Amino acid sequence: MTKKTVTRFAPSPTGLLHVGNIRTALFNYLYTIKNNGKFILRIDDTDLERSTNEFAEQIISDLKWLGIKVDKIYKQSERIDTYKKYFSQLVEDGFLYECFETQEELDYKRKRLISRRMPPVYDRASLNLSKDEKNKYLDEGRKPYWRFKLSGKKIVFNDLIRGEVVVDTSTQSDPVVVREDGGFLYNLPSVIDDVEMKITNIIRGEDHVTNSGIQIEMFSSLGKNAPIFGHHPLLVDENGDPFSKRNAASSIKSLKDKNFEPMAINSLNISIGTSIEINSFQSLKEISDILNLNKLGRAPGRFSLDQLTKLNSSQLSILSFKEIKNRLKTENINANEPLWEIVKNNIDFLSEYTKWDKIINKDIKIENFDNEFLKLAADSLPNQPWDEKTWNLWIEKIKASTDRKGKDLFLPLRRAITGLEHGPELKELILLIGYDKIKRRLLGEYSD
Ligand code: GLU
Repeated sequence: MTKKTVTRFAPSPTGLLHVGNIRTALFNYLYTIKNNGKFILRIDDTDLERSTNEFAEQIISDLKWLGIKVDKIYKQSERIDTYKKYFSQLVEDGFLYECFETQEELDYKRKRLISRRMPPVYDRASLNLSKDEKNKYLDEGRKPYWRFKLSGKKIVFNDLIRGEVVVDTSTQSDPVVVREDGGFLYNLPSVIDDVEMKITNIIRGEDHVTNSGIQIEMFSSLGKNAPIFGHHPLLVDENGDPFSKRNAASSIKSLKDKNFEPMAINSLNISIGTSIEINSFQSLKEISDILNLNKLGRAPGRFSLDQLTKLNSSQLSILSFKEIKNRLKTENINANEPLWEIVKNNIDFLSEYTKWDKIINKDIKIENFDNEFLKLAADSLPNQPWDEKTWNLWIEKIKASTDRKGKDLFLPLRRAITGLEHGPELKELILLIGYDKIKRRLLGEYSD
């Protein structure tokens, strides 16, 4: 029997999630739903100084908003006792060793190696300390910190995305697993959780490739096989720079506040740098059906807000009116179907619906510039009732009394009627705005 797929997304709650973080969450989630698996959210909050509860809550709400359904949530800060148990076992089994260098001593060694053009790999000086030497340090008041002893071998694994990957552990320093103050660093708790939570697949950014090599050794020190890894190319911004938690503008929260549609964000995020064509998808299920992880490109994907805005606009045009009505209802707006049909191809964000609602239904103040021409247009307005022939009839009448044509004819009308230079077809708009309001706008009349 094959194992049930279990994946996880493991963000640190030290800032807002950005589009780059979400790419990792999406790949894991899409892989999970494709394989009918389970998706775990693991909050990596062992760094108590930088992690906050607010960021953790925001991560949970961002994922929900994007349509990513989490089966279970764990917080690493609540699992320290478990890590301590494994830690003691690993010490007993000889996989961890205590070290006594101060930070200054480590920095000094590092700089010396770099100045000699040698890789700055930790020299394992503490590994060979005698009991007496260790006691001397302890008597001096030094507190030990702990490292994991790497094998020095080449670790080879088959990556879901990159194929065969080799990590040479002899070029790596033995990773620190516990600091002087007893705090756990990332690698070991991550491996312990992946074991305990029975994670079968770990998909994450390619900046973690070396960690994966190191972690494979940790899995085997616990007598376990490592999960299957997949390392995806990272996203970069318009300037080619990686996204960062410090840059709030690319956060999911700020995209939500700017009224972007979650499926537009998901669609673009997954399409760039993959074989999937840029398209507005309606659901994550739809994307998961066509996503093929071993067809991902190797180059970083460039994520641009302009592209996202375009996709947002086409995303809106495929939403059903029922959905739109429900969405607008939550903002106390009673959506009207004929109006939606006319504006849906002319807006980038749903929030613009209210703008058009106002233009069509309210007595708005519009500044007029071309009064003589507009008076002529007002006088030429066809009598009511109006229908789909009215526009042509009106324009013919105007043309009979002026030689204006093209932009000179249409732009002043559009400006006077809507106050804007772009928008849906006037031919359809005038029917919704109606004779009275149009006449008053052409004549520059409005009530305050
Ligand atoms: N907290 C780690 C990060 O955000 C998790 C990496 C991982 O194991 O997926 O980079």
